[in-house]
Amino acid sequence: MTTEGEARTRTIPDRIRLTPTGWESPELKGMLVSASEIQSRVRELADEIQSQLPVDKPIVILPVLSGSFLFAADLVRHWRFACELDFIGLSSYGASTQPGLIDWTHKLKTDIKDKHVLVIDDILDTGQTLDEIRKELSKHHPTAIHTCVLLHKTLKTSGSTRFQADYTGFKIPDHFVVGYGLDFALKFRQLPFIGILSTNCHGTNAD
Ligand code: 5GP
Ligand code: MG
Repeated sequence: MTTEGEARTRTIPDRIRLTPTGWESPELKGMLVSASEIQSRVRELADEIQSQLPVDKPIVILPVLSGSFLFAADLVRHWRFACELDFIGLSSYGASTQPGLIDWTHKLKTDIKDKHVLVIDDILDTGQTLDEIRKELSKHHPTAIHTCVLLHKTLKTSGSTRFQADYTGFKIPDHFVVGYGLDFALKFRQLPFIGILSTNCHGTNAD
C-alpha cells in the first residue's frame, strides 16, 4: 500500500561517508545516514503519521523487536495522542546476512480487534517480514493495519515482492546496514547513525 507518506520519503544516494570520529571499526565500511538526518526525519515521520491516522480512534502501536527498538522509542516520543503500545518480535536473519526463514520470537499478546494498528519496523528488504506480519495481524480483525519502516532497500523490492510500507523514513541502496537498532551478530545496535558493514564480515552471523 502506498500513501502520501511514501511520497515524502528521503532517498539516500549510494555514497559512503566517513564513519564519525570515535565510532571507527574494521567491521564498518562507513556511514550511510547520519544521526542528525535520522532525528529530523523521525520527527517529520511522527508528524506525517499523526496528521493522516484517525488519532481519535483506538490505536495500538506495535514495534517489531528487536531492530526497531531505537527508532520506535524516538518516534513515540513525538506521539501526542492516546495509544496502546506493545511489541511483537520476528527474526529473519538467523545465521547470515541473507534473509532466511521467518521466526516469530514474540507473538501478539494485545487485543487489536476493531482498532487501528501501527506496525513499526527497522528495514524493509524483500518485504517478507511485513507481509507475514500483515497476514498474522489480519487474523485478529483490526480496523486497519498501517506500516512504518525507517529504511527501505528499494532495489530489492522492485523485483518480485513489490511490498511497500505506508510510511518510509529513507530509501537506501542495497547494502547490509547496521546501527540505530540494526545489528550484525548483536553488535552495532547502539550506533546513533546507520553504517555499512564491511563486505569481509558478510555471511557469518547476523540476526
Ligand atoms: P525482509 O523480510 O523485508 O527481507 O527483511 C526484513 C528484516 O530483515 C528486517 O526487519 C531486519 O531485521 C532484517 N534486515 C534486512 N536487511 C537488513 C540489513 O541490511 N541489516 C540488518 N541488520 N538487518 C536487515
Ligand atoms: Mg527486523
